[in-house]
Amino acid sequence: MNFSSRTDKLPRLARSSTHPLIDSLARHPRRIMVGIGMLLLGTGVTAFGIAPLAPDAALMPVQQIVEELSVQPFADLSVGSVPLTLYRSDTVRRDDTAQTLLQRLGVLDPAALALLNSDPQARQLFEGRTGKLVTVETNDRQALQRLSARWLPDDGRVFQRLVIESGPQGLQVRIESGELTAQMRMASGVINSSLFAATDAANLPDSVAVQLAEMFASDIDFRRDLRQGDRFSVVYETLEADGEALRAGRVLSAEFINNGHAHEAVWFEEPGHKGAYYGFDGESSRKSFLSSPLEFSRVSSGYGMRFHPISGKQKAHLGIDYAAPTGTPVRTIGDGVVTFAGVQRGYGNVIEVTHKDNKSTLFAHLSRIDVRTGQKVAQGDFLGAVGSTGASTGPHLHFEFRDNGVHQDPLEIARQSENIPIDQAFRARFEAVAQQQRLSLNAAATLLQANAE
Ligand SMILES: [Zn+2]
Repeated sequence: MNFSSRTDKLPRLARSSTHPLIDSLARHPRRIMVGIGMLLLGTGVTAFGIAPLAPDAALMPVQQIVEELSVQPFADLSVGSVPLTLYRSDTVRRDDTAQTLLQRLGVLDPAALALLNSDPQARQLFEGRTGKLVTVETNDRQALQRLSARWLPDDGRVFQRLVIESGPQGLQVRIESGELTAQMRMASGVINSSLFAATDAANLPDSVAVQLAEMFASDIDFRRDLRQGDRFSVVYETLEADGEALRAGRVLSAEFINNGHAHEAVWFEEPGHKGAYYGFDGESSRKSFLSSPLEFSRVSSGYGMRFHPISGKQKAHLGIDYAAPTGTPVRTIGDGVVTFAGVQRGYGNVIEVTHKDNKSTLFAHLSRIDVRTGQKVAQGDFLGAVGSTGASTGPHLHFEFRDNGVHQDPLEIARQSENIPIDQAFRARFEAVAQQQRLSLNAAATLLQANAE
């Protein structure tokens, strides 16, 4: 359970430390450093001039960000007869009822229970996506004074705010809506075991970790190439409601130092064009082929990649096998046309995509095929899902890349595939964005040093 208390409502209570910031600084040095870093950047942050980013962030996966708050002993607060307001927060779980939620929040209030059971507006707390963060204020008899929660409908940029307040007429419910505000955040970390362990330690949402892996995918194979001591700095956007981060947005820039080599990228979107990550020199890091048909994820990152697993007596095994759970989405690594979608002996469910210059890719053992022969596909489009159909020893994706009929290493192809540099017409605007992001990245890197000292 998350439990927080506000000392500012208790001015006359003697406490070991009277200043919440000092308490908090002692407990969360890194988080405070992030706050200071953002303050130092000041107006520079708001003057970035990259407004077109905000609508795109709405396409990013929704992610509830919940920060653990330290638990203080309950007894510490129940002093004498001073009236207390207690603040607690917790998230709504999938199987929560009004009763279990209020119990965890320390609310013992029949009127609140009845309201949460029957009021249609209040019931929205338990509908839709789980994980809504609920904050309550109670008095020292555990009666509800105020409850609030915010959530984001799947489609919107406008968030909903549920407020239940105790007044002269008893508990009153209302739902308001509010505009999300975009905030820049920065973080940095060091790899000790895995990317996700490092991003967890830096309090980064999974979607930011995935974006990191994807934006450097043609330079670094995050399943195989990570080294202990690799480090990263990242500047990303969050969409906030009343200061609560409801959605992690796009990574705006990042640096990843892998095995002593620095890789950097900055997001830039030309007005009316598809945005992309570029090197700080303006060279695009977007390639005509992705390096992997599977998106990097917390699940797939734990699986290895194997070459030549089922050789047998047939022709030599000329592909890459990605071990991944059945159902993992498979995507096309480049633009093209589906030239086969069906069953082939041994390969089970197969999709073949033909790309320009007589290149082709093949995906085998699929559990599901979501495209049909003749269909046009664009880089990153999902084609089907990993499975174990045909001659397969377990769920995996068998993937082949052919250039004029000759098998090639897909990773090499992705590495060598063409870069699209920035259009000269947008060069000046790009330089301005890149310069600002460079400052922010440098600031993010100093967070790491500050944290290490
Ligand atoms: Zn294979």
